[in-house]
Amino acid sequence: MTNREIMDLTERYVASTYRRFPVAFVRGRGARLWDADGREYLDFVSGLAVCNLGHCHPAVVDAIREQAATLIHTSNLYHIAPQAELARLLCENSFADRVFFCNSGAEANEAAIKLARKYFSSRGENRFQIISMERSFHGRTMAAMAATGQEKIREGFEPLLERFVYVPFNDVAAVREAICGETAAVLVEPIQGEGGVNLPEPGYLKELRALCDEAGILLILDEVQVGLGRTGTLFAYENYDVKPDIMTLAKALAGGVAIGAMLATAEVAEAFSPGSHASTFGGNFLATAAGIAALRTTVEDGVLDNCRSVGSYLVERLNGLKGKYPFVKEVRGRGLIVGMDLAIPGAEIVNRCFEKGLLINCTGETVLRFLPPLIITEADVDEMVTLLDGVLAGC
Ligand SMILES: *Cc1c(COP(=O)(O)O)cnc(C)c1O
Repeated sequence: MTNREIMDLTERYVASTYRRFPVAFVRGRGARLWDADGREYLDFVSGLAVCNLGHCHPAVVDAIREQAATLIHTSNLYHIAPQAELARLLCENSFADRVFFCNSGAEANEAAIKLARKYFSSRGENRFQIISMERSFHGRTMAAMAATGQEKIREGFEPLLERFVYVPFNDVAAVREAICGETAAVLVEPIQGEGGVNLPEPGYLKELRALCDEAGILLILDEVQVGLGRTGTLFAYENYDVKPDIMTLAKALAGGVAIGAMLATAEVAEAFSPGSHASTFGGNFLATAAGIAALRTTVEDGVLDNCRSVGSYLVERLNGLKGKYPFVKEVRGRGLIVGMDLAIPGAEIVNRCFEKGLLINCTGETVLRFLPPLIITEADVDEMVTLLDGVLAGC
């Protein structure tokens, strides 16, 4: 099938919940994708921070192949060796003691919200309110959407799940003000991804941690986008000298296979007992076998070092463009989540890059977002910057 034929089929039969680029990819390797008409693209989106090891990393492909030929699914009525092993790897490499597996970021946040409520109800405390941030993104299911601090995402789906309040990101005083006798948790992305690559100010997350401790409430970090190496450390919280009570993961966890995970300390996780929460596919053989391969590769193969060094090189090169084009306001990021804040809309620039075979995306209307695979080289960055430079020159 050609790009056109695949597009027509989508239009005819698939629910139209996405605005898509006019292309259908059929093959990928590293930071490159090929479309159905044979054209090559340089990928600085990584399937939205999913393919952190690049497309079809051999370790992930081999793990999936082997597991698929052995056993794919049995259900959580029975023990699942790769699920237990992936949980061990996650705990040994993080603050956490226990892991609940599900299939997406939204589901991981649902689990986190349920656990926070259960934690307090099991102690006989009436705490169910969650404080989250303006411009945050936590997913599209009912609770995750209610937690999302963007009106345009919640619009039309009222009545929403109750007891969510939103305060500005990077404003500790606003959180302090919002905390009341009903507050169960503060839910925050260490770096806001969908909201426009917004970085925490120095000390912000640490102060939030202290505030939560003082109030006896939980700190939940949504690392669905920025966890698993994206910022140059395995988890973003490591950069900011804080530890959460609960953390959610998904996107990059299984190298491209659908998965989600909620990690918690033993004390908090204890509130869940058999029957509290469940997922038919959660922690299945295929996803967790892929997860083990992806996580091992991320921590053992110099991926984090590469992310940090190529990440600084990317910021340096983008700052070069900032010096050249007055409509570039700021370049900001950590590791390989980088935003270029513009004084003009970004959508058309993204389209023009696409036409030149470069995939980037745009969040919050004016922020170009760069989420390349963590295995890219400086030569890939040079190629990207040359293409982008050519597009910006025409703005
Ligand atoms: C993508 C994302 C989610 C939602 O993940 P899904 O797998 O699409 O449900 C939640 N939180 C953050 C920070 C995200 O970037």
